[in-house]
Amino acid sequence: MLLMGYGPDVTASRMLRLQPVAMRLEMKEGINGCSVINDAYSSDPESLAIALDFLVQQNQHERRTVILSDMLQNAGNEEELYGQIARMLINKGITRLIGIGPALCKHKKLFEIPGGFCPGTDEFLKSFHPGDFHDESILIKGARIFGFERINKLLQQRSHETVLEVNLNALVHNLNYFRSRLNPGTKLMAMVKAFSYGSGSFEIANTLEWHRADYLAVAYADEGVELRKAGISLPIMVMNPEENGMDAMLRYNLEPEIYNFRTLSMLARAIKRKSDSQTAAVKIHLKLDTGMHRLGFESIDIKPLADQLCAMKEITVQSVFSHLAGSEDPGMDAFTRQQIDCFRTMADELTKRLGYPVLRHILNSAGINRFPDSQFEMVRLGISLYGISTDPGEQKSLETVSSLKTSISQIKTIGAGDTVGYNRSWKAEKESVIATIPVGYADGLSRRLGNGRGKMMVNGHIVPVAGNICMDMTMLDITGVSANEGDEVVVFGSEMPITRLAEAMDTIPYEILTGISRRVKRIYFQE
Ligand SMILES: *Cc1c(COP(=O)(O)O)cnc(C)c1O
Repeated sequence: MLLMGYGPDVTASRMLRLQPVAMRLEMKEGINGCSVINDAYSSDPESLAIALDFLVQQNQHERRTVILSDMLQNAGNEEELYGQIARMLINKGITRLIGIGPALCKHKKLFEIPGGFCPGTDEFLKSFHPGDFHDESILIKGARIFGFERINKLLQQRSHETVLEVNLNALVHNLNYFRSRLNPGTKLMAMVKAFSYGSGSFEIANTLEWHRADYLAVAYADEGVELRKAGISLPIMVMNPEENGMDAMLRYNLEPEIYNFRTLSMLARAIKRKSDSQTAAVKIHLKLDTGMHRLGFESIDIKPLADQLCAMKEITVQSVFSHLAGSEDPGMDAFTRQQIDCFRTMADELTKRLGYPVLRHILNSAGINRFPDSQFEMVRLGISLYGISTDPGEQKSLETVSSLKTSISQIKTIGAGDTVGYNRSWKAEKESVIATIPVGYADGLSRRLGNGRGKMMVNGHIVPVAGNICMDMTMLDITGVSANEGDEVVVFGSEMPITRLAEAMDTIPYEILTGISRRVKRIYFQE
């Protein structure tokens, strides 16, 4: 509109009338190491463009395949439409196209991308061979009448029915919410340690990179290597460098946190081993102990540390940071202020001795919320990126990222006096209806939730756990709730706050999220 000379008033009023393109993209693990993005409900150039952008975000595979149906638009010239689609696919670097439908077959000469064409979904399914798909990202995009969910089913890996749904829009919403609270120019480091607090690795990192987070942080070199192998190019800080991960750290351009003289010499040895091929400076992050008493240099170390660093020409200090012990707790504010002051003093002395500026950062999620005047040059956003805040006011501004869902395997009615589960620990006082669900302590559901302490949601009703939690199964007392086998059960999600579950488990949401076993399939969706 700018280009066409419309004024800001007209633009503003028309913008309000823009309709979101209704769609929901789902990404799941596919067969033979593939990532499968399913959008089997619509087919038009606009939604294709969005789906292609999502596909291109996926850096984990070099090869990107699109399985596309005919467009069901009647208006306009067909040749022009498919010409436009062909250009779009080339511009997005799609490596293979499988076109399904009579119109695509008719216009196949317009497409220069390798692949093939089929007149219909049935023909495709008849000639389907699983070996044709491996280690690639596949977008399945078709109008509803083509029934592409059948293709989706063949390409998806089977797994048990408990899934962790990860809403990538919510992640982006939370990222942008915190960005809006930062001073202009303050950088944001997104904490993706421990499998991004249980929610995924490259899937989350790709989204954060696409939406321009400044930095990522992981706990171990392995986690960083996994991200690099998946094509993530953002700078990555590694918080627990270990001797045997140091070479990989340098090879994959990861940036270690150095927290004492031992880790510094470990790094120096690795640099020496590598010496000749090493050209760029190795970037490091210095951790200062300001009261947490976990890892970090102390005040007395600053001078010798700076002396050593000045003599090590291969090393550049990228940032200096510290961690708050109780940033969420108003009762500890005096201590937190003291930590911040101590950090400022130590960081000042260090940068003065180094002779060049380095980024400073101390705030974690709760710190960003409660100490906005101490952002320094960067903040480290963790749990709240995943939608969880200890501040009820702030919680309202965040969106739920992860939901743990399962479905009912069996329903049975038991008589008064009957017991449920191991040790017969739960007894029916009256005739009761029991639903068994395929999720247990091996999935990360604590045994503490047994016998009524844990609650879940079935068809909008909150129901208690009956009996002890088993390794792979749990029983619920659904008496009075109308439900069928196969119905969805929400363990936690937007209507079942994880904080409530955490209280019942006598822990914090961090532990629940990171404790969800890897056998629980993660499903990513973006709307
Ligand atoms: C995990 C971690 C964070 C993030 O903490 P949240 O409370 O999840 O925001 C920040 N800094 C360091 C050093 C951490 O280990």
